[in-house]
This record gives sequence, structure tokens and C-alpha cells, in this order.
Amino acid sequence: MAADTTRTLGAEKTEGECELDRIFILQKKAYLENPYPSYGQRIAKLDKLIALTEANEEKFINAISTDFGNRARHETIIAEIIVTVSGAKMAKKSLKKWMRSRGVPTPPHMLPAKSKIEPQPLGVVGIISPWNYPLQLALAPAIAALAAGNRVMIKPSELTPRLSEALHEAVSAEFGEDEFAVITGGVETGQAFTQTPFDHLLFTGSTPVGIRVAQAAARNLTPVTLELGGKSPTIIDDSADIATAASSIAYGKMLNAGQTCVAPDYVLAPSGKVDQMAEAIANAARTLYPEIDTTNDYTSIISDRHFARLKTMVEEARDMGAKIIEVGSANALHPQRKLPLTIDPPKDSGVMKEEIFGPILPILSSSSSDDAIAYINAGDRPLALYWYGEDTHARDRVLQQTVSGGVTVNDALWHVAQEHLPFGGVGKSGIGAYHGEAGFTTFSHLKPVFYQSKFSSSGALRPPYTTKTDKILSFIRKIL
Ligand code: NAD
Repeated sequence: MAADTTRTLGAEKTEGECELDRIFILQKKAYLENPYPSYGQRIAKLDKLIALTEANEEKFINAISTDFGNRARHETIIAEIIVTVSGAKMAKKSLKKWMRSRGVPTPPHMLPAKSKIEPQPLGVVGIISPWNYPLQLALAPAIAALAAGNRVMIKPSELTPRLSEALHEAVSAEFGEDEFAVITGGVETGQAFTQTPFDHLLFTGSTPVGIRVAQAAARNLTPVTLELGGKSPTIIDDSADIATAASSIAYGKMLNAGQTCVAPDYVLAPSGKVDQMAEAIANAARTLYPEIDTTNDYTSIISDRHFARLKTMVEEARDMGAKIIEVGSANALHPQRKLPLTIDPPKDSGVMKEEIFGPILPILSSSSSDDAIAYINAGDRPLALYWYGEDTHARDRVLQQTVSGGVTVNDALWHVAQEHLPFGGVGKSGIGAYHGEAGFTTFSHLKPVFYQSKFSSSGALRPPYTTKTDKILSFIRKIL
């Protein structure tokens, strides 16, 4: 067991930490007893994960809705249940190919040796997940880690306690705690978790907490994947159809009431089209949610604290003279901890200073495509970028001149749902990626192995060095 950890395993401490250490030690031992689970064993784990997700579907839907105050049932089915199950099924289909050792060319002077890259499980993987998609963001990384042959421990968010408990029960019923375990607890448990000497740690959450997680993990040299947030821009090119773009932006922003890491954070619209854009998005929102004040299809804000923060943002923008359009009535929505979709062409208000993570949509005016590019490049590298339009030259210029985690062209959010595309941030929006094969790779050690041949001539290069060595070296130089 690693001796040089920031906490001494099994020594000090709170009951929660002891439990965390106990399970970690159990998993590490189990890993050492079977460091390379077979294809069949991994498939069996993915099957169990699919079965537990499907068998507990109603329980998960209700737990998440109670945790949120209200979470649209269809949003949970689409973004938590279906996404998880389809990710696991896709992993099952591709696993044989992913596990295969990959041959690479061997240079002529090293022939007839062979060279291969052989994926190997890392060992025990830790996953810290947030509250906004509390099932999907716990289980999707677990799918990748289990497919790669690892043991897995998840620390879900304390802000969704009912879902965390339901997940704990469901996972414990299907899996031995030496193979897959859920550790519930608050921020202290999260901190202790980051100090555990995992073989890899995947954290999904905010950038400030991600920095603390990376610092704690560095003490053990635990490699991290950080799935963080940030302000994801949406560019409306002059060539875009405003109504079509508005409908998809309204959907992308209002799904989960804007509490989505890849939600369009703000819009950059051509000067002269800002008001038209704002009206079009408001109209699209009214079409999506014709009875927004009363429908359960519109999700609540997760907590009073998060709700107060968003309300303050709107009030600040209003005080600064921003022209605001609200879809829905604050009087009807506030008691349900819901916010009207608030479209806000801002005047340097606080909405542009941090990730919004709620149904507030600033619309900024940009004088040209280059102006929009310059605005984006002056800020942190975003997790997602959306571009709407028909002018492919302008599109390619934006793709080449900006750096973001991922992009959807002419729609919002969809690149995240495409399992064959890696998902992750860049710069302040994250480090590393998962989904599909990228996830398998993240949780594997891609071990390079050189298979020497018994007909190798490498012995001829050993001392004592003679004129024969010089002749061989000059031959090698010729064939390189
Ligand atoms: P958060 O950073 O507050 O918390 C995330 C998790 O970290 C929770 O489980 C929490 O208990 C734990 N935690 C908190 N402090 C900790 C510490 N000091 N050490 C260890 N663990 C700690 O994030 P949140 O509010 O739950 O989620 C919202 C943020 O997550 C937004 O910024 C959003 O963009 C981002 N996010 C990113 C993705 C992505 O895939 N890139 C997905 C969803 C959310």
C-alpha cells in the first residue's frame, strides 16, 4: 500500500474516513488478486450496471425530483437513465476492440522484433460527481472505469442526498464493495476522498473546487481527469436563421433550468440583431413551455442558496439598466424555486463575470465574426461552444481561432450525447476526457511492450566496440 499519502490509511480519524479507507484497502487488495479482469467479467459488470439503472428507474426519478424540488420527469429519463444505459451498451459493443493490444510499426533496424500497446487496468478509480445530473455524472465515468477493468468508488454530491442514498442502495445490492462502492457524505468526505491514493481520480464540478481537488491529488501523484465548467458561448453568425437558432438555444438553456455544464451561457449576436434574437428566444421558450408557471416539465433550482444567487444576478442587471425579458411570472414561479427564463442584454452586469448555471441568458452584440472570436479568446477557454449559421468559411474560422472543450454546430448540447466523441474541457474548463473509447483510455494504462526476437541482432551493438560495430552502425544509419 502506498506509504506516502496525505492521510495515513487506517490511522486517525472520523467514522466516515475510516469507512472510506476500509473500502479503498478492500478494493486495492481485490485488484491485486485479480489485476486483469477478463472480457467476460467486465461484460458481467456492465450488465449489472444496466440492470440496476433500469430496475431502479422510478426510484431514481423520484429521488432526483425530490432533491431538486421538481425535476422534469422526461429530463431525468433522457439525460440520466437513457444516456447511462446507452453508454453502457455502447461500451459492451466496443469492449473487445478496446481491450485488444494494438500493434505499432517496428523500425527496420529493430526487426524482427514486434511492438505493441497493451491496455491495462489502473487499479482503483475514484469518482467525485456533482448534483446537476447526479445519476449520469456518477455512473457514466463508472461505466468507463469498469469497462477498463478497474475497481470503482464514487462520492456523489451532498446536495442530492436522496439520489445519493438510492444509488448507494442500488449499487450495494448488485456489486461487492470490493468492486464498486458508493461513499456518501459531505464536503469533508469529498476532501478525504481526494486525499486517498487512488490510481486515477475523475472529478466533475466547478473550476474552483477542481483546482483544490488537483492540489490534493498531486500529493499522492494521483492522475486526475477534471470535468469542470465555465461560460460556454453561442455565436449567431449573420448567415443564421434566427428562429431556428432561437428554438435550439431556448431548449439548451432551459433543460434542467440551465443547470447544465454545457448549457449556452451567453449569446453573441450580430449588432442590430440583438433585440430580434431576444424576442425570438422568448417566443421559442413560450412554445416549449406554454404553461411555464404551472408545468412540472420546467425544473426547479437545486437549493435556496443557488436560487438566491441567480435572483441577485437578475436584480443587479436590472439595477444597471439592462433591458430584461422574462418568460413566465416570477410571482408564480418563485414559490416553486423556479426562475422565469430571463433574457438579458446586459450592460457589463455580474452575469458576464461568472458561469451562470441557471436560466438567465445574456445576449451581447458583436460587430463581426472576428469581434466574437476576440471576445471569447479574452476569457477562459470554455467547455462548449455553439455556432449557428450557413457561412462555412465563417464557421471554420471560428472553429480554428477558438479553443473550447467541444462544439456543436447549428444546435446546442448534442456533441455531449454522441458517445463516439470524447467529452472534456480544455484550460480552465477541464483536463482530460471520457465517453466511449476516450473513457476506456482515460482509465487504462496504455502499456508499451517491445517483444524482442530470438533472431535479434541487438547483441552486435554491445561492447567491446570494434570495427564490426562501426560497420553495423553505418548500415543502420543508411536504413533509418
Ligand atoms: P462543486 O464543485 O461545488 O461540487 C462537486 C463535487 O465536489 C460534490 O460532490 C462536492 O461534494 C464535492 N466537493 C466540494 N468541495 C470539495 C473539496 N474541497 N474537495 C473534494 N470534493 C469537494 O460543483 P457543483 O455545484 O456540484 O456542480 C456545478 C459545477 O459543476 C458547475 O461549474 C458545472 O459547470 C460543473 N459541471 C461540469 C460538468 C462537466 O462534465 N464538465 C458536468 C456537470 C457540472
